[in-house]
Amino acid sequence: MHSNLHHVVVIFIILLSVPAGVIAADPAPACPYASIQPDDRPCVIMSGWNTLLSGLPGSGGLFTTPLTVSGTVCVNGSESPLIDQLLLGNLEFRENAFNEDLARYQDLATAQYPGVLWIGCSDSRADPERITGALPGDLFVTRNVGNIVPNHDWNLAAVIEYSINYLQVKEIVVCGHSDCGAMKALDADLKDPYIPLWLNDARDAKTRIDARIPAATTPEEQKERARQLEIENVRLQIEHLMTYPSVREAVADGRIQVHGLYYDLATGTLSRVI
Ligand SMILES: [Zn+2]
Repeated sequence: MHSNLHHVVVIFIILLSVPAGVIAADPAPACPYASIQPDDRPCVIMSGWNTLLSGLPGSGGLFTTPLTVSGTVCVNGSESPLIDQLLLGNLEFRENAFNEDLARYQDLATAQYPGVLWIGCSDSRADPERITGALPGDLFVTRNVGNIVPNHDWNLAAVIEYSINYLQVKEIVVCGHSDCGAMKALDADLKDPYIPLWLNDARDAKTRIDARIPAATTPEEQKERARQLEIENVRLQIEHLMTYPSVREAVADGRIQVHGLYYDLATGTLSRVI
């Protein structure tokens, strides 16, 4: 018994003397990008302009270093003025809008009750909350190139199903907008592998406009044709929307209404199409 105990003690001492790296079977692969070391600062909501200023690029690196990192991580693009600007904007958001309406944001931290499902274009100029004055929690949003409602799309199908069955939204909006790149692409012979495929679900809108409006010969005519195409696309996508059984049934039961809207970038006006 005494001999066995002696062997255990010897093995334990040997193990303690072996560097951890020798025991590790699979050392971490070399990182092709700059490594980021752990940030010792606490990961809490910071407030106050001193914190804001202390985080400015070049004055401490708040924006170029994740708040907490366990061990070394590999991050591409960690030095980005654009992302720094977004993080700076978030600090300003927390300092102002968030703190001023803290009760609302605390409620939203654990539940949401949006009344509207918004299907819009990914265009950076057509942010639904901004152009409608909606607050966080008001809109359940999905956006894609050309505010398209594909006939068979699991992504959108899941959004619709979740919106109707679990969020119990009351309205569904399909919103188009002026100067839409997707609608311009419908008239162009793009060689990209995916955009033309995606736009197939909007092609009927172009066919209808071609039948209704002659080819444009002036910039004014082209502008009007583009506007008609953008609006016709909203109508077409609502037709697609109504092919989803969950939507059709909810509309028939009077549980939801479907709306078509159009946003004019030049005037900031949102108006009804349907
Ligand atoms: Zn668009």
